[in-house]
Amino acid sequence: MTQPDIAPEIIARLKALVGEEGWSQDPERLAPKLVEWRDRWSGTTPLLLLPKTVEEVSAIVRLCAATRTPITPQGGNTGLVGGQIPQGEVLLSLEKMRAVREVNVEDDVIVAEAGVTLAAAHDAALEADRIFPLSLASEGTCTIGGLISTNAGGTAVLRYGTMRALVLGVEAVLPNGEIHHGLKRLRKDNTGYDLKQLLIGAEGTLGVVTAASLKLFPRLIDRTVALAAVASPKAAITLLGRAKDASGGALEAFELMSRQGVDFALKNLPGIREPLAAPSPWTVLIEMAGAEPGATGAAMERLLARALEDGLIQDAAVAQSETQAKDFWALREGQSAAQKPEGAAWKHDVATPVSRIADFIEEASAAVKAFAPGVRVVAFGHVGDGNIHFDVVKPEGREDAPHAAIRDQGARIVHDIAMKMGGSISAEHGLGAMKSQEALRYKAPADVAAMRAIRAALDPNRILNPRVLF
Ligand SMILES: Cc1cc2nc3c(=O)[nH]c(=O)nc-3n(C[C@H](O)[C@H](O)[C@H](O)COP(=O)(O)OP(=O)(O)OC[C@H]3O[C@@H](n4cnc5c(N)ncnc54)[C@H](O)[C@@H]3O)c2cc1C
Repeated sequence: MTQPDIAPEIIARLKALVGEEGWSQDPERLAPKLVEWRDRWSGTTPLLLLPKTVEEVSAIVRLCAATRTPITPQGGNTGLVGGQIPQGEVLLSLEKMRAVREVNVEDDVIVAEAGVTLAAAHDAALEADRIFPLSLASEGTCTIGGLISTNAGGTAVLRYGTMRALVLGVEAVLPNGEIHHGLKRLRKDNTGYDLKQLLIGAEGTLGVVTAASLKLFPRLIDRTVALAAVASPKAAITLLGRAKDASGGALEAFELMSRQGVDFALKNLPGIREPLAAPSPWTVLIEMAGAEPGATGAAMERLLARALEDGLIQDAAVAQSETQAKDFWALREGQSAAQKPEGAAWKHDVATPVSRIADFIEEASAAVKAFAPGVRVVAFGHVGDGNIHFDVVKPEGREDAPHAAIRDQGARIVHDIAMKMGGSISAEHGLGAMKSQEALRYKAPADVAAMRAIRAALDPNRILNPRVLF
């Protein structure tokens, strides 16, 4: 796609809408917003806009709609598929909309503006003795607007669902500049199409999210975290079934890590130690949380003791302190960062039905190793909800470029296998600039046509995130 050409006169009018503090063209100020976390995408913009209110966002979008000026919305810039990196569009950052407007314990709701980070939302909920349960490794930087727009998942989906299940209402500016005042806090509202659900996961193509009302949950004081060694993903899935039964609904996270990923963490991350007595081909992290002191500890001990007896697991460790629990999580959350020093990697964020995860890992690992001998597979993630991050790192000692050059063919192999198993090529990161074209191969034509019709109805000139989705 060629870069848009935005006239100086339009730039001047946009600046006037937000005042001196509300825009920047300073290359230093812009630089961190034009590259993403993995250094895979970089971009350009003629203007960074930093509105402070929904009215300012509305004025910006209205002018852009009238002048057919394309916009890329950006939150914390932690997205992993390049959708937030502009390629010549105006960059609309929500970073100045950072107010927590309300926490209401009776309604169990927090109303937060789009630029509030996930960590700040967690803190605000905790101050009211509640939790907002979504949990991701990028929580210090990712924002409510970005989380909604990507329908983010993370480690607690097993119990609480993705962002789609956690949003009660959305305030957003639609592509014509109109404001959708949808900050409801209702658990039941059957009054036709649900606009907020359309905006969730729309990756900034159907509106600019400016605030949201989000569900809060009771704070659970009893928490137990454990690691267990298993011989295979199949054994991990059997253990998952038992953990669901044993926990009586208290199972909060069930994460898998491959030996290769643990080895990279030991080698490349400071402060990481071999987690169990002996190296294991696969490691599972299990977390349970409940309200009754000691209950999850007892359930976890019973689960692990029986699994050891039956030979389902080979070893286990239950965290004896919060620090140890954090160390267990650091190993899991470091799985991505630990690969970085190893060079180029093809990254895949796939989902399959839980019952097919083990087959997927086995078949996809064999297929990529046959296609590119010597590659190092790091499979890890939220297997409790069927989501596996399947990363394929270049062979040791080789250059990055040849591995990067065959990334698309590698992805095709992995995606074909996931889809054959009834899966998805994007479990939680979205399609962005990276996978929108690829997704067209797998989506049913009728579904693509319906999505295009919705977008055309709301944004006939395709001004919002034009490079993203269909
Ligand atoms: C270390 C690390 C771990 C991660 N772990 C997970 C994980 O476990 N689960 C998971 O789901 N994701 C994960 N992610 C991905 C990422 O954090 C999420 O996609 C997150 O939701 C992005 O939020 P953001 O504010 O950074 O959005 P950005 O990256 O700024 O934007 C993401 C997309 O949303 C759009 N957008 C942003 N704000 C708005 C808005 N206000 N209105 C309309 N559109 C908007 C952008 O245009 C873009 O298309 C991880 C990322 C990192 C770096």
